[in-house]
Amino acid sequence: MTDEGKKISSPKGEVLVIAEQILGELQPVTLELLGAGRYLSDKLGSQLTCLVMGHNLAEITEKLVSYGADAVYVADHPDLTCYRTLTYRRVVVDLLDSLAIPPHICLLGSTTTGRDLAPRIAAHFETGLTADCTELDVGPYEHKSKVDPSKVGIYEECLYAIRPSFGESLKARILGPWKNPQMATTRPGQMTPLKPDSNRQAKIIPVQVSIKPEDNRLIVAETLREVGKGIKLQEADVIVAGGYGLGSADGFQLMNQLAACFPNSAVGSSRKVVDLGWIPYEHQVGQTGKTVRPKVYIACGISGAIQHRVGMSKSSLIIAINKDVDAPIFKFAHHGIVGDIFQIVPEMIRQLESVKSDKEVQTVVSTH
Ligand SMILES: Cc1cc2nc3c(=O)[nH]c(=O)nc-3n(C[C@H](O)[C@H](O)[C@H](O)COP(=O)(O)OP(=O)(O)OC[C@H]3O[C@@H](n4cnc5c(N)ncnc54)[C@H](O)[C@@H]3O)c2cc1C
Repeated sequence: MTDEGKKISSPKGEVLVIAEQILGELQPVTLELLGAGRYLSDKLGSQLTCLVMGHNLAEITEKLVSYGADAVYVADHPDLTCYRTLTYRRVVVDLLDSLAIPPHICLLGSTTTGRDLAPRIAAHFETGLTADCTELDVGPYEHKSKVDPSKVGIYEECLYAIRPSFGESLKARILGPWKNPQMATTRPGQMTPLKPDSNRQAKIIPVQVSIKPEDNRLIVAETLREVGKGIKLQEADVIVAGGYGLGSADGFQLMNQLAACFPNSAVGSSRKVVDLGWIPYEHQVGQTGKTVRPKVYIACGISGAIQHRVGMSKSSLIIAINKDVDAPIFKFAHHGIVGDIFQIVPEMIRQLESVKSDKEVQTVVSTH
């Protein structure tokens, strides 16, 4: 006699997003998580809540409400001004322990902070965590394995944490139905935020912060903002990305010149050239770099390794220039140019500049 077909449900907790702010600036991934969280909580019929930690958080709290949170837990304390693993972990763990029902789902960004904090929380609650998800959903799961008969049955509202696996040849749906909160992190740029609505109302719940002396083992003396030059990669309409095919760091001059032919453009790169020190990390696109979705992505001398592809495959138009006709990038680029970058790119620049100057001439002519 087994319990096959038995429905197993847990008390329905909230969907909790853990917000991320750096130097008082809310990180875009939080808004994306609220968009994904809204979808999940509507499907579950539960509340979408958000925890924000830091100091002087009034403005951020308002923003979280306008982007969809039904309730915001606010842990506002001078000791939380800068992210520190142990102090932030303490606040999250204390809050979750104080809730009558644990959250059904808990989401964080796959950022440096999220990747540090999420496993600490998961380990404390001995619950599952799936990192780097690209899609999230909820649905049933029927467990039939007889290894542990007490687990056999239908789990009705599981988090489907979906992420590419085996070199993106497969999309894996990873489940952790045994215990709530079911946890996931998602990569920045993957989820879609809701449109902000300043008329949205939410409950603001102050959180008591009780940091213990042992949480203060690490002191952050100062946090400095690195000011990137030019337009941010994730906001650019056109990205000109260079890879190992550029031959040396000097090749990026050509990338800068091509990028300068377009308004709102930026220069991206593969990881190989970042590792070689040809260009700073902030330009890196891919699994361990940034996820981008520009209108146009021009990949120059980039082979199209899976780790690069996951960061740029959602670009509206991908143009690849590579001298190897069999380069993997040609399998997913919308347009491919087989040839030497150092012949093709200068010609592209020449033609784009001539189109630009023709337009300028026309504009001058038409205004006289
Ligand atoms: C855990 C992990 C994480 C990673 N994360 C990332 C990541 O975030 N982003 C990332 O990009 N990579 C990442 N990588 C590395 C990735 O696997 C590849 O090694 C890297 O993307 C290759 O960079 P590339 O295309 O510039 O170089 P290569 O693979 O060496 O390709 C160079 C290309 O240039 C072409 N070429 C050469 N000369 C010319 C020329 N004159 N004209 C035209 N074409 C030319 C060649 O035909 C070739 O296709 C990661 C790897 C691991 C293991």
